[in-house]
Amino acid sequence: MSLVIYHCAICGENLEGDSKLDPCGISIFSNIDKENESDMQEAMFFSHYECFRNSLEPGVREYLNFEDQSQQIQEPIGE
Ligand SMILES: [Zn+2]
Repeated sequence: MSLVIYHCAICGENLEGDSKLDPCGISIFSNIDKENESDMQEAMFFSHYECFRNSLEPGVREYLNFEDQSQQIQEPIGE
């Protein structure tokens, strides 16, 4: 980890921990439906993976499954 201390934008806690997925960065884009990119603004925040995931509604949460993907890297399926 670098000298930067990350704080979670959702819970406010320090992001240093033993999670394999943290720290996470969350980007937000405004006016995503506009054709002119100059109308679009972007900001990035840091958060715990679990905090962000838990802030999503359950139906959307199913699409965010980094933990399954990291499991597949460790345990390849098939031979
Ligand atoms: Zn958090």
